[in-house]
Amino acid sequence: MPIDAAQPYDDTNIFARILRGEIPSKKVYEDDHVLAFHDINPQATLHILVIPKGPYVSWDDFSTKASDAEIAGFIRGVGHVAREAGLVEPGYRLLANIGPHGGQEVPHLHVHIFGGEPLGRMIA
Ligand code: AMP
Repeated sequence: MPIDAAQPYDDTNIFARILRGEIPSKKVYEDDHVLAFHDINPQATLHILVIPKGPYVSWDDFSTKASDAEIAGFIRGVGHVAREAGLVEPGYRLLANIGPHGGQEVPHLHVHIFGGEPLGRMIA
């Protein structure tokens, strides 16, 4: 069920629970600003999610309210994860779903990293 990108943050969402260690994830990387883990239902050979550690519902919420340090940390974290996964030379795709038209289902900002194979058209 797509969520409203402007809704208040709900700290019972599944990614908040992963951040608190209440449910497991296949962790790829973690630093002060981000956590990266494998998507539970991969849509490509490699499908990693990167989330900021702060309580932000969506790209809209994050780009409005996050500090410069959080924004820089998140962007650098996404780049770091892709680099460490060996995706720079073959190439990869980033995707953030926002709100109902974007099909966002989890109300904690996340960027999808897809790679490991040619990814085809941008929108099927
Ligand atoms: P979105 O539609 O952009 O909100 O994507 C949510 C993504 O989270 C989907 O690709 C799901 O497969 C993924 N997902 C949901 N629950 C988990 C979980 N417990 N661990 C890892 N990925 C998850």
